[in-house]
Amino acid sequence: MKFELPALPYAADALAPIIGKQTIEFHWGKHLKTYVDNLNNLIPGTKFENVDLETIVKESDGAIFNNAGQVLNHTLYFLSLSPNGGGEPKGKLAEAINEKWGSFENFQKEFVAAGVTLFGSGWAWLAKDTNGKLEITKEPNAGNPLTKGLTPLFTFDVWEHAYYLDYQNRRADHLADLWKIVDWNVVEERY
Ligand code: MN
Repeated sequence: MKFELPALPYAADALAPIIGKQTIEFHWGKHLKTYVDNLNNLIPGTKFENVDLETIVKESDGAIFNNAGQVLNHTLYFLSLSPNGGGEPKGKLAEAINEKWGSFENFQKEFVAAGVTLFGSGWAWLAKDTNGKLEITKEPNAGNPLTKGLTPLFTFDVWEHAYYLDYQNRRADHLADLWKIVDWNVVEERY
């Protein structure tokens, strides 16, 4: 299977100033493109040649896992953002958040804390188990909650390449602002 760089549903400058045009050009156009190209170069001749991305992430390790994970993680990340995002989730997802964390504000605090306390590079995730119960996980490097049997719903990328051009070392400030561009409609569909 040949993987493609996913098209963005917004212009490169649409998420500024939270994610500026130059960050999109590097992060989507170069970092993610490289992960896609690497994966396409790594899988021919392996058992992953004709397998979907989620299965590769669940069953691979080493360089294939790192590149497949980064393709899946960035796809979920970029497609969960919108210049018209923000606000709060609705419906069943909102109910599940309230059941687990008491309020949307408490959930946001826990989620940002996961991202801020992740040492080095990685991802903060909202994921659900097979019963629809929610969990926040933090995963180093290319990690994805799929490998723990969970379904990923949305994520904040805390690799420095995600925010350094716009926020330099201020990871916590960047994560706090990211809520303004989360597209909850997309996340609700995944739930
Ligand atoms: Mn990234």
